[in-house]
Amino acid sequence: MKKKNIAIILSGGVGKRFKKKIPKQLYKLNNKTIIEITLEKFVQTGFFEKIIIVSNKKIINETKKISGGKKIQIISGGKTRQESVLKGLKEAKRYNPKNVIIHDVVRPFFSKKLLDKILKKLSTKDCVIPIQKISDSVRYFKNNSYIDVNRENLNLIQTPQGFNFQKIFNAYKKLKKNHTDDSIIAYNNGIKISVIDGERMNFKITDKKDYELAKQIWKENKHMDIVKIGHGFDVHALKPEKDLIILGIKIPFSKGLEGHSDADVGIHALVDAILGALGMGDIGEHFPPSDVKWKNKSSKYFLEYTKDLLLKKKYKINNIDITLICEKPKLTKYKKNMKKSIAKILNIHSEKINVKATTTEKLGFLGREEGIACQSSVCITKND
Ligand code: ZN
Repeated sequence: MKKKNIAIILSGGVGKRFKKKIPKQLYKLNNKTIIEITLEKFVQTGFFEKIIIVSNKKIINETKKISGGKKIQIISGGKTRQESVLKGLKEAKRYNPKNVIIHDVVRPFFSKKLLDKILKKLSTKDCVIPIQKISDSVRYFKNNSYIDVNRENLNLIQTPQGFNFQKIFNAYKKLKKNHTDDSIIAYNNGIKISVIDGERMNFKITDKKDYELAKQIWKENKHMDIVKIGHGFDVHALKPEKDLIILGIKIPFSKGLEGHSDADVGIHALVDAILGALGMGDIGEHFPPSDVKWKNKSSKYFLEYTKDLLLKKKYKINNIDITLICEKPKLTKYKKNMKKSIAKILNIHSEKINVKATTTEKLGFLGREEGIACQSSVCITKND
């Protein structure tokens, strides 16, 4: 059985230290809120069965507006951080997870690598915590006393923190006192703590100065982001007594498309668009029609192959726009399922896909119902 991971993202703080009406998680870095950045990163890892946001009641509507998707669940938090975590854990229980990751929403700069390391370590440990050594000198300074503190054994504790779900849940159920993080609760309940190196970048945005720094980092980060676009076009002729398959969906119609594979005109145009964005030629070069092994092949296979190329080249899809052109059949009612089918193959959110259907006003070969055409555009960016 696959081991399930659930993430709990705490978005309960209203940012008293910010002295502003808008909570800090709704502050923007460029055009994205901090909560969106954190969330997007969690979703894109593909590590989690469910991502539960425990939100402050005051911003729950705002949060719902900016964070959609079937993997994301939003619940309202409690009065304290601890109450919120407990609510998150109770919700997570429904999915019977093996592991749970608990993270503060205002740490948007963690890496996928860090999450990967935590989850890997959780296969043999019950509690994995990222820590940071202190490199500055530390002094106790108050009321004229200035005392050296040995920093050797001092550590800064970060999130995301990873736990064996059942163990941390049991610990939380027994809890009375308030604490500032979850690892101490685990420790107080006899769970053994394992540490890994945290990341200096993974700082918590708590005040104005942190926010200014976050803006700087995000700006530099954006410069490294390479955006590419690609375009694809395909046409197939209609012929009687063949299945009509478009964008992976079988459509009831008296004719189907003629071609070497299953002639899925939509997927072919999309594959060409992605290959175009990657600068890797066209579908014919990767799957020559002269090769018998592609005969009657499902075009879904071509799209899977192209998705693997994207992963290998470390790109992700930002959005896809597809235009199907034909007089008949009317495709509008299939658009939703087409989006779902493509989203499933590419493992992306269906909101990133747009499918349009149009005609040529009875003009030309498409107007005479001799075939179906498709145009597709895609925008991809480099992963971090
Ligand atoms: Zn084709």
